[in-house]
Formats: sequence, C-alpha cells, structure tokens
Amino acid sequence: MKANDSNVNIIKPGSVIGVLGGGQLGRMMTLSGAAMGYRFITLDPAESSPCGQIAEQIVAGYGDQNAARELASRCDVITYEFENVDADVAALLEKESYVPQGSKLLYTTQHRLREKQALEAAGVPVAPYREVKSAEDMVQAVEELGVPCVLKTVTGGYDGKGQRVIREKQAALTAYEELGGSTTELVLEQFISFTCEISVVAARNPQGEKRTFPPAENIHVNNILHTSIVPARVSSELQLEAQHLASQIAESLQVVGLLAVEMFVTGEGQLYINELAPRPHNSGHYTMEACTTTQFEQHVRAICGLPLADTTLLCPVVMVNVLGEHMEEVTTRLSSPDPLAEELGIVAKLHLYGKDEAKIGRKMGHINLLCHDVQHALMWVEKTNIWRNQNL
Ligand code: AMP
Repeated sequence: MKANDSNVNIIKPGSVIGVLGGGQLGRMMTLSGAAMGYRFITLDPAESSPCGQIAEQIVAGYGDQNAARELASRCDVITYEFENVDADVAALLEKESYVPQGSKLLYTTQHRLREKQALEAAGVPVAPYREVKSAEDMVQAVEELGVPCVLKTVTGGYDGKGQRVIREKQAALTAYEELGGSTTELVLEQFISFTCEISVVAARNPQGEKRTFPPAENIHVNNILHTSIVPARVSSELQLEAQHLASQIAESLQVVGLLAVEMFVTGEGQLYINELAPRPHNSGHYTMEACTTTQFEQHVRAICGLPLADTTLLCPVVMVNVLGEHMEEVTTRLSSPDPLAEELGIVAKLHLYGKDEAKIGRKMGHINLLCHDVQHALMWVEKTNIWRNQNL
C-alpha cells in the first residue's frame, strides 16, 4: 500500500524495517528503532557490517536484484542509509515493497545539477552556477562567474573528491581536463567566501508534518567532517532562517524521512544551500544525547508514518569524529577517569561503530561532548591533543 493524504501507511512497532546499506548510519538507526520495538534487516556486501552486527543481514551487493527482492519480501518498509542506490534496485524495491522515501528524491540528490534546479524551484538561494558540457562552456562560465570558482563533477563526488578550486582564469582548462573534460558532466559554481558552514537536519512524514533539528556549525579537515558545534555560533535569527529554509526544501521536495541540508553562511549573514543528503547525517550525530529525540528515531518515525517528536536541544554539545588514527588514544583516554573533562564540566559520550580495521581517515566512531559552553568542549578537544595538527 502506498501512502497518500487520506490513507497513510502506518508501520507499527513490531514491524520489520529493511535498510539498504549496513554502515554506521544503519547501525544507529537500528539501535534507535529497536528501542521503539522494530526489527531490522540490512543488505550489505560486507559480512558482519556495523549494522549487520546488531540486525539480521543479507550479505549481497547493493546491485543484486535477487537479494533486493528477498529484502522486499521480508520487510514491511524499506529505507536506505546512502544516496547512491542503484536506480534499477530502487525501482524494484518500490514495486515490490513499501519505500516511503521514494526513488525521486534519490534521483534528484544523486546529481548536483538536478539538485540545484530542485533547490531553485523550492525558492531557496544557491551559489550562482553554470552547467559545463564543453571547453567553450568552461571558458564562458569562468568569464561569467569570475574567479575564484569551483568546478565539480555532477555525480559521484564525495568528501571533496571530484572538485577543483579555480583561482585564476588561465587554470580553467586544466581543471576541466583533470575532472574528465567532455566525458564527464560538470558544474561550475561561484566560490562563496563563507564565514562558516552549517547544516540542518529536517524530517517530514507522509502526512506532511515537518520538524527540524537545531543547526550544527561544521568544521571539516581534509574534506572530512571533523567537528559539529551546537548551538552554531551564528545569530539566533540566522539559526531560525536556516531551519525555515530546510523545512521549505523538505516540503518542496515532498521528502519523507530525513533531509540533511548543508549551507554556507557569509559575513553579510546570507545563507546559500550547498548540498542535500536524504538520510541521517554525520552532522546530526550530536542529537544522540543532546536532543530530546535523535535524528535516527525521527527518521524511523517519519518513514513509519508516526507523529514526529520534539527536537529541543537539551544542552550545548560538540561532536567530534573519531577516525582510524584517533582510535587508540580515544579508547585509552575514555577508559579511565578524565580530570580534564571534570574540570571543564564536560560529559564525553563515545559511540563506536564496530569496525575492525582502524584505517587512516576511516570513520570509526564519534564523541558527543555535552557541556555548559561549547568553548569548554572545544578546549577539551584541543588539550587532549588527540586531534593534533587539525586546526579548529
Ligand atoms: P561539497 O562536496 O559540495 O560538499 O563541497 C565540499 C567542501 O568544499 C564544502 O564543504 C566547502 O567547504 C567547499 N566548497 C564547495 N563548494 C563551494 C563553493 N561554491 N564556495 C566555497 N566553498 C565551497
């Protein structure tokens, strides 16, 4: 049965939720959903995936149609924890099961140009951009947008891969060739000289109810999220505006489930939407202890057609990611009393994702630092020296 205004599909506790992808987002979704009485089956090619350790797992590739069919037959509702879901699999699941998020949102957010067009249609600001299909387009686009500007591949880019910042016009064609030239779909964006980056996680259920979490201020190191600071250090008017924009986008795109909205904030207080992710987001992990409802519970509520829950921030928080290179020091430090945390009035909550190999740059877990003042938590991050060489 499909959801519509008069006949919304309510997935009651006790039902089975299928998760495409068995990474940490699926794992934390399972932890929250299990507490609400749901059962989970994940599909992931890696045996004993972070989610598969705590849910049932079908071990198969994401493009495996037979495995997708099995998932569909065993679940009451299906969701995904990453956006690059194979289009054929998404269509198959939609036909054979209940996928309240639908495949249209994936189709939009998998493609930077379609995403920007959808954002413009939603009436929200994006950085000026041009589609680049040829070397002539490239030269003209740089001429029109000026330098600096950022060239990006339209699909497949993540963590800063598939991007080139162009600082002088002469470098335009080199960047164009480096990213694949006419064989790759490209988009050129004006460089936004932002003072900070923030993100808002919005939720919408099939009934059209919407809620947003407080904005997080995000600091990236080597293009990987390093720290999220909440409340974001911007005015309360800007925070409200960011939440309003995220809500407006969720409504315009008829989102069901979560939508993470990344934005740039300029010195003049202007917000530009940079990117969307139709799923729980790393910058929303702070909600796990710091809000009345976590982003994962909210996602389960939204896809199951339950009323959305309150998103109040209970205390200031700093979330810091634990990568492979931080694992040893983090586990040692958090396995014994921490006078520094006590002195600063901080409670450190460690979440680990159950990954065996602590490779450099691999997200192994995160710490939520609950505090009275985010400066104290940032001081803890600095003084522990675990994240050395990563300027905040
Ligand atoms: P993205 O993959 O689009 O999220 O970009 C990765 C990072 O590159 C962003 O978090 C920004 O720090 C930076 N960036 C991307 N696009 C722009 C832009 N138009 N202007 C300035 N910085 C950008």
